[in-house]
Amino acid sequence: MHVSPKNNPGVEILREMLAASHRAVVFTGAGISTESGIPDFRSPGGIWSKYRLIDFQEFMASEQARREYWRRKFATHEAVAGAEPNQGHIAVAELVSRGTVSAVITQNIDGLHQASGVPADRVIELHGNTTYAHCLNCGQEYDLDPIREVFLEDETLPVCVSCGGVVKTATVSFGQSMPEAEMRLAKEKSVACDLFLAIGSSLVVYPAVGFPALTKENGAALVIINREPTNLDDLADLVINAEIGPTLDAAVNGSN
Ligand SMILES: [Zn+2]
Repeated sequence: MHVSPKNNPGVEILREMLAASHRAVVFTGAGISTESGIPDFRSPGGIWSKYRLIDFQEFMASEQARREYWRRKFATHEAVAGAEPNQGHIAVAELVSRGTVSAVITQNIDGLHQASGVPADRVIELHGNTTYAHCLNCGQEYDLDPIREVFLEDETLPVCVSCGGVVKTATVSFGQSMPEAEMRLAKEKSVACDLFLAIGSSLVVYPAVGFPALTKENGAALVIINREPTNLDDLADLVINAEIGPTLDAAVNGSN
């Protein structure tokens, strides 16, 4: 059965919860970005299930692995580079600009929260960002376009011009440790919030699975918005199983 956001009683409850909140936190997973046409690379049939993964150790150990890494990166690059924020991202940005939401914690690496107008210092990227590259040694950042141009020519690997270090997309790869500062900040925000909105995440993978419990222990309300049920639905004060963009748009911008 299809329930339009306007007639979904959960949307009205969410609107009231948002109105009552003073320090909400948004947590997002792949589901918010699939509505912008970005494939969920981890899903069954996604690219990560077709190829054996190149983990971080392998990436560092061999030039051959690094070439394969960049080949795959540029094969999927267009889907990310051409994507634009959807209603869901825009509604989240609106909540940040109203002061309702103090931070956006995301598992996504597409930069669409920043593109929708959320200030970069309000976005906590747990898995990094695939829209640019950086030197693994000194941290210098690089645009992807010049790297791509050179790589597509004869598969020349990018090397840091400052220090000669290995350059990789600014993402957290499998086998690479989670970014400490981001993890610490995400925990602090989860503990301090009065409302935690988990959006478009199946809440299965670490660390996503840990934040909702943390937030509940500290007395905040938990809302889960996802197209499918999640394992943590029983913990939530409100669960909305629906399209994310239209749901958030109705809750944030809809009128009674
Ligand atoms: Zn460097």
